[in-house]
Amino acid sequence: MKVYRTKTTLILFISFLFCITTYGQPKVIAHRGYWKAAQGAQNSLASWTQACNIGCFGSEFDVWLTADDQLIVNHDRLYKGIYMTQANAEVICNLKLPNGETIPTLEAYLQQAKKHPNTRLILELKSHGNDEREILAAEKISVMLQQHELLERTDIISFSLNACKAFRHLLPQTRIQYLNGDLTPQEVHNLGLNGIDYSFKTLQRHPEWIEQAHQLGLEVNVWTVNNEENLRKCIDWKVDYITTDEPELLQKLLL
Ligand code: MG
Repeated sequence: MKVYRTKTTLILFISFLFCITTYGQPKVIAHRGYWKAAQGAQNSLASWTQACNIGCFGSEFDVWLTADDQLIVNHDRLYKGIYMTQANAEVICNLKLPNGETIPTLEAYLQQAKKHPNTRLILELKSHGNDEREILAAEKISVMLQQHELLERTDIISFSLNACKAFRHLLPQTRIQYLNGDLTPQEVHNLGLNGIDYSFKTLQRHPEWIEQAHQLGLEVNVWTVNNEENLRKCIDWKVDYITTDEPELLQKLLL
């Protein structure tokens, strides 16, 4: 118990130190967890925990609705020959990740998230190519986040405008960022969304969108930036968040 308390205190201290030294700079979002750390795998519970342990501001993960209407956490639509949207959760959640874990349910993921209360959840609902399925997924996610009392710690992101609109309707107070890069900040603002979460290439093509977004009160997140040169560019752009597979490298650049 004493060892656990010491470790928790140390993590809190590192997070506090990082917050005060990087105030006003972009915040670090681990992409699919800190999966490059030891024993990591994309979207695994271990990688969520690793992102928390190094003091990331947030950690991103991907959610699908299975054929039997369950929510699971995985990136690829097709994994080991199984389509996330066409199989039942029981089949999907028996599939092994590279670190030996099995694909987690959203329920298991949120239970793990609750053990690390200082890290923000960046929940991506994947595009299902079916408006009704996305709306059902949004409804189920909203209920689950409320049941776990995690709504205030969660930002929603999606490439699907339909999904963003569904969440906007269901969760008026929750921050929702649009991923697809095809709308101007003004158009995103007009839809009542809270931010743009666009690719590095999109923001490189439209650097003026960063200032425009900020003037409209929108937040700016950029994905997925992994090399030092581009991370430095994003810092110079004064975006609000950088989503990266290299959270420790970004943390060093921000100090
Ligand atoms: Mg994602």
